[in-house]
Amino acid sequence: MLAAIEATRHGAGSVLLLDRSLIGRGGATVMAQMTVAAAVGPGDHWQYHLADTLAAGRGLCDPELAALLCRVGAECILEMDDWKVGWARQGNGFAQVQAPGHDRARCVYVDFLSTGPAVSRTLRTQLQRQGEGIRRLGEILVTDLVVQNGTVTGAVALNVATGQPITIAAPATIIATGGLTRLYARNSASANMSGDGYALAARAGARLIDMEFVQFFPIGHLAPRLIGMDPIMWDPFRYKLGGRLLNGAMQEFVERWGGDAEDGTYSTTRDLATYAITKEVEAGRGSPNGGAWLSFTHVPEATLRAAFGPVIDRLAANGIDLTRDCIEVSPIAHYHMGGIRVDPRMRTDLPGLLAAGEAVGGANGANRLSGNAITEALAFGRIAGAEAARIAALPAPAFNPAAAAPALALLSSTASMRNIAALVARLQHLMAQHVGPFRTAAGLNQASTALAALAAELGTAPPGTPGIPHDLNRQDWLDLRQMLLVAEAVIIGAIARTESRGAHQREDFPALSPAWERNLLLRLPAGATHLELA
Ligand SMILES: Cc1cc2nc3c(=O)[nH]c(=O)nc-3n(C[C@H](O)[C@H](O)[C@H](O)COP(=O)(O)OP(=O)(O)OC[C@H]3O[C@@H](n4cnc5c(N)ncnc54)[C@H](O)[C@@H]3O)c2cc1C
Repeated sequence: MLAAIEATRHGAGSVLLLDRSLIGRGGATVMAQMTVAAAVGPGDHWQYHLADTLAAGRGLCDPELAALLCRVGAECILEMDDWKVGWARQGNGFAQVQAPGHDRARCVYVDFLSTGPAVSRTLRTQLQRQGEGIRRLGEILVTDLVVQNGTVTGAVALNVATGQPITIAAPATIIATGGLTRLYARNSASANMSGDGYALAARAGARLIDMEFVQFFPIGHLAPRLIGMDPIMWDPFRYKLGGRLLNGAMQEFVERWGGDAEDGTYSTTRDLATYAITKEVEAGRGSPNGGAWLSFTHVPEATLRAAFGPVIDRLAANGIDLTRDCIEVSPIAHYHMGGIRVDPRMRTDLPGLLAAGEAVGGANGANRLSGNAITEALAFGRIAGAEAARIAALPAPAFNPAAAAPALALLSSTASMRNIAALVARLQHLMAQHVGPFRTAAGLNQASTALAALAAELGTAPPGTPGIPHDLNRQDWLDLRQMLLVAEAVIIGAIARTESRGAHQREDFPALSPAWERNLLLRLPAGATHLELA
């Protein structure tokens, strides 16, 4: 949304904003309920934010992208304030909290339920203010890019509402499709996060970077069932109130797996907490649903309410009383550090193709700091939009409909009916089992073999007949086609990186290796069906 606004502000006369869902309501942004990191407090500077971002990235951040995230991100946060997003205030400035890995209180928020929704709403309002310049189309699932002599000239998409294929000609295309968390059985995002953007870019011939770095959030909500709440909401609870992480026998356990005694505080980093929970469950000491207990029962009600008033009410509506009830948590796929390789102007390897947001790889290296993702989405969206407007003003190759023919043929083809949702579930369990936060060569190779079997079952054409509105089975087929390519990218990277660094932990190579302080690039050679290291 910000890319579209910025393109218009930089003179692009005709901007088309597409989303497979409803505009501004289908991705991770609208689901984020917590905080956004930006150096906008007194005494803070974007370079301090950058230093923390680089340290968290464990040597793999693209320093230019990371600097843009921190510098332009802070400008965007101030502009969002001008646009009345409603950042919480304290005294004369913003209220800011300190999230793990930041050297100071740097994270702004609206409140602990409304940050992402407020960001999305503000951008939707600004989109409307741009008037006719930005055409918005929801329920358009982009399935392939159109490439002519190495230049991206548009895209092919399925109109989900009619079942009809469409072709879009564009002198500049920005991929802002978010992350890949749907690859995993337990994930914090929406069903739209199939990693489509990575697959679209790779199929067109652009390189991907550091695809092995999937961030798992250790204390994702597991049970009891929560409605209308962010599954990663326990993080602010823990950094404000501590809370006890307990095994099935109600004992603290992180010390057993290399952590320091927490004693009700929140001192264990995300990677170590993920390790400790996973290992405790493997040892048969998990909570009933296969995770750990999180307990705030020692925190007085008044303290809970003072810190999280509206959240406490929302929990009560879900039948949870934290003064009495423990909840179950376990690691959950949450964010992707890898993605499409771009330069500081958000240009990919291919003329005419840009990327923004979580679709971009490299800014956060091997591990992303809490609060950096929305900042990244805003900063990179702003830069990509301005650059796309500049590119659109240059002479471009005329759109050749013949270049779109293979992608259109795929959407028009038919095959016998199969239950594709079952194949998606198989992929998700495979990824969770072998390509989760802890990996081994044996497990990764098993995943690779199973992936090939899934690809064979997928076949070459979507099931059913074209032209049926909201044909979910056909959509699942199109999604799974992209998910298999993206899963392959994660697995190839994870097999190649024979070390443990940040979010990528190899149990057979437990140490960080200085020789591996380098990025891993992948590409899909023209005409090939498998990715290779670039
Ligand atoms: C539950 C949750 C909580 C989070 N909390 C925080 C937080 O507190 N702070 C923080 O900084 N970050 C947080 N994050 C991460 C952050 O929200 C995301 O990284 C960020 O919002 C990504 O923004 P984006 O614009 O790149 O993509 P998104 O907001 O995910 O948008 C991508 C859009 O692309 C569309 N799309 C995808 N594929 C296609 C296709 N093939 N065709 C057409 N459209 C497509 C989707 O429908 C979606 O609308 C959280 C994430 C989750 C899931």
